[in-house]
Amino acid sequence: MIISENAAVLFHYTLTDEDGNQLDSSKGKEPLAYLHGHKNIIPGLEKAMEGKQAGDVMVVNVAPADGYGEIQEQKIQEVPRKTFQAEDITVGMRFVAQTPDGPLTVFVTAVTDETVTVDANHPLAGKKLTFDVRIETVREATEEELTHDHVHGAGGHQH
Ligand code: ZN
Repeated sequence: MIISENAAVLFHYTLTDEDGNQLDSSKGKEPLAYLHGHKNIIPGLEKAMEGKQAGDVMVVNVAPADGYGEIQEQKIQEVPRKTFQAEDITVGMRFVAQTPDGPLTVFVTAVTDETVTVDANHPLAGKKLTFDVRIETVREATEEELTHDHVHGAGGHQH
C-alpha cells in the first residue's frame, strides 16, 4: 500500500546537516515508526512520505520552517550563574526549567564566571536538514494506534 492518512510507516533514516555532518541515524537500530498524518514527525519529512511505498529510497531536504523551526532569539537568555545549584556547568548540558507555561528544556550554550547562557530552541532549530530515507514497512494502523496517535511495537511506543 502507499503512504496516506493513517498509515503506520516504518523507515530507516540518516540525518545530516548542510555541512554533511551526521546528526542521527537509525542504522543498526529498529526503523523509526510513525503514524502518517498525525504530526509524529516534522512536516517537511511527512510531506515527502506521502504517496511512497515500502522499498522506496529518497533524499529529503528540509528547510528550518518545515523542520524544527527558525531560531528564536527571545528563547536565548543569559542568567546569573548562581541561579544554578550544580557546581560544574558546561556547554551542552541540558536542564529542565520550570516556567509558568510548564517545564521547558534548555541547553547551556555558553558559560562565564558570572553568567550562563541557556537556549530553549530545539537543538536542530535553524538548521537545513537532509534525510536519507528508506521505507521499510507500510501498513494500516490499528484502531488502538489511531486512538493513541502513534504506532505501537518495534520502533514505536512499547506499552
Ligand atoms: Zn499507545
